[in-house]
Amino acid sequence: MSDAPSYGFDTLQIHAGARPDPATGARQTPIYQTTAYVFRDADHAAALFNLQEVGYIYSRLTNPTVAVLQERIATLEGGVGAVCCSSGHAAQIMALFPLMAPGRNIVASNRLYGGTITQFSQTIKRFGWSATFVDFDDLDAVKAAIDDDTRAIFCEAIANPGGYITDLDAISAIADDAGLPLIVDNTSATPYLCRPIEHGATLVVHSTTKYMTGNGTVTGGCVVDSGKFDWSASDKFPSLSAPEPAYHGLKFHETFGPLAFTFHGIAIGLRDLGMTMNPQAAHYTLMGIETLSLRMQRHVENALTVSKWLEQHDAVDYVTYAGLPSSPYHDRVDRICPKGAGGLFTVALKGGYDACVKFVDSLEIFSHVANLGDARSLVIHSASTTHRQLTPEQQTAAGAGPNVVRISIGIEDAADLIADLDQALVKSQA
Ligand SMILES: *Cc1c(COP(=O)(O)O)cnc(C)c1O
Repeated sequence: MSDAPSYGFDTLQIHAGARPDPATGARQTPIYQTTAYVFRDADHAAALFNLQEVGYIYSRLTNPTVAVLQERIATLEGGVGAVCCSSGHAAQIMALFPLMAPGRNIVASNRLYGGTITQFSQTIKRFGWSATFVDFDDLDAVKAAIDDDTRAIFCEAIANPGGYITDLDAISAIADDAGLPLIVDNTSATPYLCRPIEHGATLVVHSTTKYMTGNGTVTGGCVVDSGKFDWSASDKFPSLSAPEPAYHGLKFHETFGPLAFTFHGIAIGLRDLGMTMNPQAAHYTLMGIETLSLRMQRHVENALTVSKWLEQHDAVDYVTYAGLPSSPYHDRVDRICPKGAGGLFTVALKGGYDACVKFVDSLEIFSHVANLGDARSLVIHSASTTHRQLTPEQQTAAGAGPNVVRISIGIEDAADLIADLDQALVKSQA
């Protein structure tokens, strides 16, 4: 089937990128468990290595099972191409790598997944890169943080852990004015709830570990390119606009046009950084994506029911779910994520740190794990785990203070989830 844009999301999440296996007729996408691919002859091999012909060489670069997943995610996000990699964190490095150089910086939201804050505030310094964190609700602060060395703006569509919704239209307008790409982590929203490219994002990154796979089986990541950024408009992005010595002076943007970022991601990024997704992982994620819309509908329905119930509970100070009218982000739902505010929110408990610890230890259906976006309901006390490396100020700014528990609502019966939360809340206050 051709991936005509006229097909609906539910059709594309099953069919985009895939077709019956040409060798066997297998209807489901085979797991191509192979490292290398036989060249037709020496000329064919040379053409592949020169990037004059597209084909399979070696599975660090490309693999037919992974290629189906790449096309599926690119289609669902409305991008022109995608590169899958070994984890969400790998995807973030793969997205930044072609843009950055020693001395360059990114401007990032201070409301991000805890591991991303650590990656951006600590680890990327080893490459000579840095990040300036600002409150993305303060548009003047975002503008003021951009300087001559800035090479990208980075935020999450629905920000983990609080479920805050970023005004992507306003942020992409700032990025456009500055001639910079906007990178949006769409892990918590998924393309079913939010399509950042329609709001001006240049690149979309995913931890496919979460909702995209949806069953907590494999780690993976993906970088999707909108194909819309003009990498040659300034001299800021020489990896894409200037001659590449490793390919006899080829210029990626001039040669591959809107696919420049995707080709660079494979031909340079995967080739030399090696953060490759394996075909088994791609298989599990393809299985998960087939039911993405159905799962997201139930995640949203359950999150709304449970967060409304929690908000009324005596042991609860407040709930941050943007689907609730009490949320300051409620107004953004219709514009940014019209099918719902996701399945992720935080609940602040009376009794602070100690009450939170008792609460997570008393839950029975909910598992206390460092994961989200699973079919099963999960909780985590961010301050003592994922956000532990952050200062108290960073924790509070990220919506992960000591009195707060993050909830990732699964697709079980809402009544059972409520009963479990109720008994654990009573114990938290004892
Ligand atoms: C989990 C997560 C990541 C990191 O992804 P991994 O697959 O764990 O490396 C990045 N961003 C968000 C929003 C996440 O939830």
